[in-house]
Amino acid sequence: CVLENSPLFNAGKGAVYNIDGNQEMDASIMEGNTLNSGAVAGINHVKNPILAARIVMDSTAHVMLSGKGAEQAMEQFGLEMVDSTYFFTSSRYNELKRIKLQENDNPIDYNSILNKNFLGDRKYGTVGAVAIDKEGNIAAGTSTGGMTNKKYGRIGDSPIIGAGTYANNLTCGISATGTGEYFIRTVAAHEVSNLIQYKKVSPQDALHEVLNNQIGKLGGKGGMILLDKNANIFWDFNTKGMFRGYKKSTGENVVEMFGLD
Ligand code: ASP
Repeated sequence: CVLENSPLFNAGKGAVYNIDGNQEMDASIMEGNTLNSGAVAGINHVKNPILAARIVMDSTAHVMLSGKGAEQAMEQFGLEMVDSTYFFTSSRYNELKRIKLQENDNPIDYNSILNKNFLGDRKYGTVGAVAIDKEGNIAAGTSTGGMTNKKYGRIGDSPIIGAGTYANNLTCGISATGTGEYFIRTVAAHEVSNLIQYKKVSPQDALHEVLNNQIGKLGGKGGMILLDKNANIFWDFNTKGMFRGYKKSTGENVVEMFGLD
């Protein structure tokens, strides 16, 4: 919620704009001991989409709710609702205007959602968190506004369990950011978990394999944070940087932004 409430990140307040100048948010959450999961997609009146995902997980029989139905349910569950103008930030709006101007200079093919102009070089900013308790219960969550100028009610990887978020006490918890289409196609977070579980690959190597040899080879970009079942922290990305940090119960705090070297 802290990250969603900060206008600096592409989630909650500060979410990016779609092609129509609206913000549509996606979020998901998963528990590693039960594999219980919840997700919401395409919402823009719930102040904290990650709390909506939590309600779907804890209080409904479903895993994912979308759009108006999701918002009606959240209002009934008493979640804080806001006018969609709450999410406005001028920096994100200007980013949309800039991209649209570029398109006017160089019209793109709207029939292709994988058009390079849509998925090309850009900064992400989805937020995610992974945590483990002293019993070894892992939880992971991800929240996003998606990608600037997204079309057709597009939904990315962030609310897709197994793609942008995954948690399993047998292996690890993961949250991802990047070009969501590629994370969905490679079922990225689940793939990392499977490499650890079935091929006994180390978490660092598993992240590298999926980000570079699978997502990277297809043309996708992004990164993942991972906490393994023994509370070891890992991350990797195939972009220039990824804002990331951790906090341990010992009091150790680390924040990093740019490359791994
Ligand atoms: N993964 C998000 C999406 O595709 C975007 C991001 O990470 O910033 O919706």
